[in-house]
Amino acid sequence: MTTALATASAYRFVEAWGMASGSFARVHRPRSVDEIQRILADLRERSVSLALRGTGNSYGDASTTRTGEVLEIHRMNRILGFDVETGIAEVEAGVTVRQLWRHILPLGYWPRVVSGTSFPTLAGVAAANIHGKNNFAVGTIGDAILEFDIVLPSGEVRTCSREQHADLFHGAIGGFGMLGVFSRLVVQTKRVHSGEMEVAVFANKNLREMMDYMETERASADYLVGWIDCFARGDAIGRGQVHRGRCLAPEEDPDPEKTRSLAHQDLSEMAFGVFPKSELWRIMRLLNNDFGMSFVNAVRYWQGRLEGAMAHKRWTLNEFSFLLDYVPNWKWSYGRKPGNGLIQFQPFVPKESAHHVCTEILRRSHAAGFVPYLGVFKRHRPDPFWLTHAVDGWSFAMDFRVSPSVREALWRHCGELTDLVLDHGGRFYFAKDLTLPAGVLERMYPADNLRRFRALKRELDPERLLQTDLARRVFGNGQGSAGRAAPP
Ligand SMILES: Cc1cc2nc3c(=O)[nH]c(=O)nc-3n(C[C@H](O)[C@H](O)[C@H](O)COP(=O)(O)OP(=O)(O)OC[C@H]3O[C@@H](n4cnc5c(N)ncnc54)[C@H](O)[C@@H]3O)c2cc1C
Repeated sequence: MTTALATASAYRFVEAWGMASGSFARVHRPRSVDEIQRILADLRERSVSLALRGTGNSYGDASTTRTGEVLEIHRMNRILGFDVETGIAEVEAGVTVRQLWRHILPLGYWPRVVSGTSFPTLAGVAAANIHGKNNFAVGTIGDAILEFDIVLPSGEVRTCSREQHADLFHGAIGGFGMLGVFSRLVVQTKRVHSGEMEVAVFANKNLREMMDYMETERASADYLVGWIDCFARGDAIGRGQVHRGRCLAPEEDPDPEKTRSLAHQDLSEMAFGVFPKSELWRIMRLLNNDFGMSFVNAVRYWQGRLEGAMAHKRWTLNEFSFLLDYVPNWKWSYGRKPGNGLIQFQPFVPKESAHHVCTEILRRSHAAGFVPYLGVFKRHRPDPFWLTHAVDGWSFAMDFRVSPSVREALWRHCGELTDLVLDHGGRFYFAKDLTLPAGVLERMYPADNLRRFRALKRELDPERLLQTDLARRVFGNGQGSAGRAAPP
């Protein structure tokens, strides 16, 4: 007998954020734990697999599926409580980062860890164990999560923390939706005395200078992020600019109520006061080629030199944190035809070999004719989650343009870079991945972490109900050997 399903569902195209892969699937959008349990029971009965999805902000295939159905969590989006004394927030898992900051900033708080976009759900950021521009100082979002409820494939709900079901706590954070469905989370946020922060710009002539600057500043900075002009070569390889953010002390903002207000934070919908930002991607599209992007990157570098010579500026927290939200749908500038889009490739490299590996990545990318249009550099620190991407070292996130004519060659190029990174003890971040082949896990993680994760998966999900394209590609049957992944 089939379990009656009364939850909202629809059949539609479910796409990677970078638009370079996706497929049609039936999508369920539950509003409660009861509904999640009913969906799981129905799928178990029909022997159909399920991919979990937040708002689909993973660049690759972390929340898509070609062979099963999809559960989107974003309609479970109530903020259940916020303690203004402690800064502890309790939320349903579909609450977005944007919803959270808008709720807590006027009360004097800010999320401890945010991604470069504010649209992800708390479920998605927990499953990816995201890092921010302050990873070197405060760790990942997992370090700020105090407790969560997770609905297991069997329908059982477990409450997990560092004390209770500690294994599941450390496996599911960063577990990319393979162990269960987050339905509720409790997170620690941080006090802020102003809705603005002080931003210093430092223009660096090459990668060595960028790394030296960030290494010195990390003792005192709250946030650090480097923007690399990936077109620069020779002695200038890795040139760019670093943004150093410092939170303001109480006495530095004469009117914190005003700066923390949403009216102060909200960005204008017009660029330069005249042009709707929602249409800017059309202009960006004209520049979305090697020539245009080398020009844009050079302008950004020289602008950094100019700004670096000027006094430090104040930016709103919204502006500084979510710079990539500034132009709505900028990804469309990569083309809207099927097969076009972008992938991000983000290796994490131990500090000892980071300079060599990242320079070599740029050199090989120039030689192969694949120059990243955007390059973002960050400093990281390790954390205790089993499948974490973070290392005591650096990450270099690069956006590569994808089109049908370069797809095979680009995947080959990324495969070669993958070997380089893994040979130097590096890791990758699945939220930004579409090219890793099976067999990389053994080269990335301590054997014990992987063994414990796989044992938990077998125990909690013996029928492998929870599956995504990413999980099938990278985790496979757990026996995969290293090779080259073909483009999807
Ligand atoms: C422009 C841009 C900038 C970004 N900047 C950063 C950054 O600075 N730092 C960073 O770390 N990341 C960054 N990201 C990546 C992004 O933060 C992650 O991909 C995040 O996971 C997206 O959340 P989501 O809600 O969209 O989830 P999705 O992308 O839909 O899913 C992400 C993962 O969560 C799982 N999942 C979804 N719901 C649940 C659930 N209820 N229970 C269990 N698992 C679930 C999915 O199966 C999937 O594996 C960026 C992404 C974009 C597009």
